[in-house]
Amino acid sequence: MLISPRIDREIETNPRPMRLGIMGGTFDPIHFGHLICAEQAREQFDLDYVVFMPTGNPVFKLDRHVSDAEDRYNMVVIATRKNPMFDVSRMEIDRGGITYTSDTLQEMEQKVPKGTELFFITGADAIISVLKWKNSDLIIKLAHFVAATRPGYDYSELQEKVENSPEMRGRVSFFEVPGLAISSTDLRERVRAGKSITYMTPVSVASYIKSHRLYIDDCD
Ligand code: ATP
Ligand code: MG
Repeated sequence: MLISPRIDREIETNPRPMRLGIMGGTFDPIHFGHLICAEQAREQFDLDYVVFMPTGNPVFKLDRHVSDAEDRYNMVVIATRKNPMFDVSRMEIDRGGITYTSDTLQEMEQKVPKGTELFFITGADAIISVLKWKNSDLIIKLAHFVAATRPGYDYSELQEKVENSPEMRGRVSFFEVPGLAISSTDLRERVRAGKSITYMTPVSVASYIKSHRLYIDDCD
């Protein structure tokens, strides 16, 4: 597999420049915040597809127990299965080792049809930290960043920082996602405490968590 099943098929049968969103994350577990964010990015930036990219070993989360990559991957697959414009990539999981976004984007750039534009979707609060990521100058060259503003988030200061950064200026767009304060951390805590996560994540994901007994014995 090159990127993901649907994208590979497109490249094989109908190669053309595409507008591809990449939704990176740990997805431990995936929830409606992620799904709404991806869908809004797709609509607002006129993307052909959004490729969900579960991380292998996330470099920033080495301090806590992260669920098995296969479980996180399976949950993303079942949550996105019914949307023909969503797809899931195993690139980062199969690469092994610590995940660096620069490796992923470089690899994608080589695989997609010429003229394809990559849009890296992220929460607005993460945007400035991108400058601290490994090979950030390369990352910013390879993808346009689309930053979702979280509920109650005043991003004027952030926008100013982006405009003042010579690397980032013109490479970041902000977009609004309707009020969702859902986070994976909160979902994990609720599961551990025996509380409901219904309506925070698709039913199929909640069932997966239950049947695989995820998050019950975690101690982050
Ligand atoms: P954790 O609480 O474990 O950090 P998370 O909910 O932030 O999990 P991640 O897998 O870390 O989920 O996030 C993947 C991407 O989705 C990031 O770019 C993050 O900013 C974004 N994101 C997470 N939650 C939301 C939300 N509720 N609305 C919009 N974007 C979100
Ligand atoms: Mg997070």
